[in-house]
Amino acid sequence: MVKHIFVTGGVVSSLGKGLTSAAIGMMLERRGLKVSMQKLDPYINVDPGTMSPYQHGEVYVLDDGAETDLDLGHYERYTNARLDKHSNYTTGKIYSEVISRERRGDYLGSTVQVIPHITDAIKDAILKGVAPGVDVAITEIGGTVGDIESLPFIEAIRQFALERASSDVMFIHLTLLPYLRASGEMKTKPTQQSVGKLREIGIQPDVLVCRTEQPMSDDMARKISLFCNVRREAVIEERDVEFSIYEVPLMLVKAGLDKIISRRLHLPVDVEANFDDWRAMIADMRATTQVCEIAVVGKYIQLHDAYKSIYESLAHAGIANHTKVKIRKIRAEDYYEQGSILLEGVNGLLIPGGFGERGVEGKIRAIQLARETGLPFFGICLGMQCATIEYARNVVGLEGAHTEELDPRAAHPVIHVIPENAGVEQKGATMRLGKYLCELAEGSLARKLYGASSVYERHRHRFEYNNSYREQLERAGLVTSGRYADKNLVEIVELKNHPFFIGVQFHPEFKSKPLRPHPIFAGFVAAALAHARNGGRAGKPEHTVA
Ligand code: GLN
Repeated sequence: MVKHIFVTGGVVSSLGKGLTSAAIGMMLERRGLKVSMQKLDPYINVDPGTMSPYQHGEVYVLDDGAETDLDLGHYERYTNARLDKHSNYTTGKIYSEVISRERRGDYLGSTVQVIPHITDAIKDAILKGVAPGVDVAITEIGGTVGDIESLPFIEAIRQFALERASSDVMFIHLTLLPYLRASGEMKTKPTQQSVGKLREIGIQPDVLVCRTEQPMSDDMARKISLFCNVRREAVIEERDVEFSIYEVPLMLVKAGLDKIISRRLHLPVDVEANFDDWRAMIADMRATTQVCEIAVVGKYIQLHDAYKSIYESLAHAGIANHTKVKIRKIRAEDYYEQGSILLEGVNGLLIPGGFGERGVEGKIRAIQLARETGLPFFGICLGMQCATIEYARNVVGLEGAHTEELDPRAAHPVIHVIPENAGVEQKGATMRLGKYLCELAEGSLARKLYGASSVYERHRHRFEYNNSYREQLERAGLVTSGRYADKNLVEIVELKNHPFFIGVQFHPEFKSKPLRPHPIFAGFVAAALAHARNGGRAGKPEHTVA
C-alpha cells in the first residue's frame, strides 16, 4: 500500500516548500523507504517551458523531456525518486486533458464541472506520479492556501484522503512565523489563519513546519498547537540556516519529523535515518579554507532562480574539490560595455544557456578573453553556441558568423536550425528536449572528465552546431569531442591548447547532486582552483586531445 504525504504552504510563497518536501523525501529514503516526488502547480500555463525566467526562474528539464518547475531540481538533487512528465502537473495541463476528453465525448453529455471532473483528473494525476515499488508518495501543492487558483487542488487532496484509510494519507503544512523587529516578538496569527483556511475546506494538517528567523519557544509551539489543533510534538521549527541549505534535512530530522511521519503513516518506527555521509559532507564544507571564484556571465543574472541548478552544481563541484566556490554574477550587457575589468581576479568563466539577442555579444567577448588568456571556460547550451561563434569569427576569420536564432540571414550561420525542425511555429514543447546519447571522442577532455565513452545528457534548445562548418572549425583547432551519432549532431566542443575550455550543447546542471557532482563541473572547478594557485596565470593543459 502506497502512503501519501501532501505538502501545502501558507501565509506567503517562497518559504522553501520545494526544499522542505525534498528534505522529507530524503529523510524517508534514509530510513530505507522508496519515495516518489511530485509537484502540482496552480497556474494555467500547461508547463513552465514558455514562461519568462523573470517570473518563473529556471525551467528544469527531465530525462523524458518534460519542462518542469524548478522545485523538481530539489527533488532530484536530494532524493533518488524517478521523475517524469507525471511528476509535475499544472492547472493548465489538468484542464487541457479534461477539455480534450470533453471534446472526444468521453463525458457522455454530462455537464463538466470543477467537482467532480477537474478534481477527479487531479486525483488521477496524483496516482500517475507514483512509480512502481514506491512506499511513500510526496506531493507538493504549489502556491499558498487561500489562493483562488489552488482551491481545486486542495479540494482534490481532501477527497483523496477521504477515500483512503487514515493511516495512508497525511498533510504537512509549511507556514511562516514572522518576527516583528519593532516589538521584538514572533507572531502566530498568520499561521492560525492559514491553518483555518485549510480546515475550512476540510483538511486538518498533521504537522506544521514553521519557518522562523528566531528560535520558536516552547510556549509559542504550545499556542500554535492549541489554536491549530496540531499535536505539540508535530509543531516543528525550521529556522533559517546560517551556513548551507544542506542543513535543512538534518534540522528536520533533529526535530523528529521522520519519526512523526513514520508513526502517523504506520511505517517502521525503530529505524534511524542514516545521514553519516551527509554530515561528513557538511563538516568538510565548514572546514574548507580554499576559495576560487567563478564568473557567471548571463542575461538574467540579477535573478538567483534563473540559474539555480548551475549555482547548485558549482557548489557540488566545490564540495568535490574541497573548496568554496564564490560566484561573481555579471550581466552580459555590462561585460559588453565594460570588458575585461569585470573578469579581473576570477578563476573561471561560465556562460549559461539562454534565449534571445540581449547580452550575446557580451558573452562572446568574455569567451574571447577566456580563450586568449587561458582562463578556464565552461559554456552551456547558448554558452557553447557562443564559443563556436567566437571561434568562427576570431580564429577562423569568418566575418558575420552567428546563430540563425539572432541573425537569420547571417553570412556564416555556424549555429542553425536543423532542416527537420525548420518551420515549427508552435512555442510550447517544440525544442529538442530531454535525454540524448552523447559519444565522447577518444583522448578528449570530455572523455577524460566523464571517464566513459558515452553519456546521456539532457537538452533544451532549438538550434544546433552547423556541420557544414565542422571541417573548417576543426582544422582551426576547435575540437568536436561529443556527438549524437544517430542524427550526426555535435554536442561538445573543446580546445586542445588551453588549460580548460569546453562547451556543451546540453544541460549538465540538471544531473548534479551534492554527493555526486557532475564531472564537467567538478573538472571545471578543479581547473579554476589550479588557476587560483597559479596566481591567476594560465596553467598548462592537463590533457592531450588526439
Ligand atoms: N537559444 C538557444 C537555442 O535555442 C540556446 C538554448 C539554451 O541555452 N537553452 O538553441
